[in-house]
Amino acid sequence: MFQFGGINILNEDIREKITTENIFKIFNSFIIPLLSHEERDFMLLLQKYCIDIIEPKIDMTRDVYNIFPFLGEAGYMQRLYPYEDFKPFGMRYEMILAMVLSIVDPELDLARVVSGVLAMNPLYSHGKSDREKRALGDLMAGRKIGCICITERERGSDAVNMQTRVRTCDDETGDVLYNGEKVFTTNGPVADYFIAYGVEDEKAPRESMYQALIERGFKGLETHRLGILSAPRVHIGQTLFKNVRVPKDNILGGRGQGYTNLFRGLVAERNTIIGSSLGISWLSAITGLVYTNLRKQFNKRLLEFQAVSFPIAEMLVDLMAATDLGFSAANEYQKIARYPENVEMIKYNASFSAGTKYLASNLAHRISYEMQQLCGGAGYTDNLRIDKALEISKIQEIIGGSRNIQLLLVTQAMKSILRLIE
Ligand SMILES: Cc1cc2nc3c(=O)[nH]c(=O)nc-3n(C[C@H](O)[C@H](O)[C@H](O)COP(=O)(O)OP(=O)(O)OC[C@H]3O[C@@H](n4cnc5c(N)ncnc54)[C@H](O)[C@@H]3O)c2cc1C
Repeated sequence: MFQFGGINILNEDIREKITTENIFKIFNSFIIPLLSHEERDFMLLLQKYCIDIIEPKIDMTRDVYNIFPFLGEAGYMQRLYPYEDFKPFGMRYEMILAMVLSIVDPELDLARVVSGVLAMNPLYSHGKSDREKRALGDLMAGRKIGCICITERERGSDAVNMQTRVRTCDDETGDVLYNGEKVFTTNGPVADYFIAYGVEDEKAPRESMYQALIERGFKGLETHRLGILSAPRVHIGQTLFKNVRVPKDNILGGRGQGYTNLFRGLVAERNTIIGSSLGISWLSAITGLVYTNLRKQFNKRLLEFQAVSFPIAEMLVDLMAATDLGFSAANEYQKIARYPENVEMIKYNASFSAGTKYLASNLAHRISYEMQQLCGGAGYTDNLRIDKALEISKIQEIIGGSRNIQLLLVTQAMKSILRLIE
């Protein structure tokens, strides 16, 4: 079991039933019918690894990062892409990984997704130089930490119109200089590798955006921690580029290409967040189901009150539908991976993943919030993982773009559908 910060007030019967192993047993009864044999075997092996290796190392009072190397050792920093002998891989496997790890520790999975998918995806897709390949290996092994720097103090939802400036050096090297400030960089204050975006011409951001790998130790790179109360074990910060010289070998996307790379990468990012949100939802839903089935008030189990059992039944119906939809988004992602030149498919995928991310992250929050109410006081303590799930669900809803921005992407698809009958 976990190391907790506070004392345990659950009675013995409940405590021995609220285990990750039992949560997995119930989760599996819902999920396995949606999986292939290969996916099921992958998930069961991963769950065993989590119970035997990962969970004993989790300490709710300490940062999550010391667990990265143990994830890396078994190829669990990401499962979207092939790497060394770690098989199988693909978006459905990445989604299973995000779900299972979020059940074990939603905060750990938040940091893992940023390092393992958000930072690693650009390196995998566009990295060619030795430095970029070395960074990929370091992140995959979990021995180094990665982050992604898009959002700025004055440019959040409007991610295209960045103020961070990129200037080519006045020599023949092909190196560039970064100047600017990024905020809300998850993992930033402890990161070794920064996937950073900036523009050469603020008036033409699409045509002049760069994407580069900046490394800890580069002169002029500074990081500071923000006070984000919902995720105390993950460092989220401000990243400053003060005339940082970035070698040519670290440029993943040159002038203009940075923009295409950024927006293509966001689909993978959203899909993974869908997996994490679903995992958080399952964690809260199953924890509450088990707890309310054992907790007695007025001489009855809570679950015998319809005011408790009906909302839980409703949650499970919604969650099963959202999970099915999440796997469909993963299937669509695999299709664009096969047909990267099909623009229509890419557009469809962008709105599908945005709509599903909107739905799944909002559901994670709703289920965690409602379940906390249904479980009463114990749901507010660290004896159950519902409050942790609730806090991280709030982050899932904004990271990768707030819910309005996901809806904005859906409205763009709506407009193009209406053009069919103009
Ligand atoms: C905990 C946390 C972790 C994060 N991690 C990272 C990270 O690792 N890397 C990174 O680059 N960024 C990260 N972000 C940034 C996150 O993606 C942004 O916060 C988000 O995109 C919103 O930007 P903003 O905060 O500036 O809000 P604003 O853009 O100022 O938006 C404020 C509100 O206005 C709404 N709004 C804005 N424009 C529109 C519109 N056109 N239509 C309708 N509504 C609109 C928004 O939906 C929101 O509700 C993180 C944020 C948080 C809070």
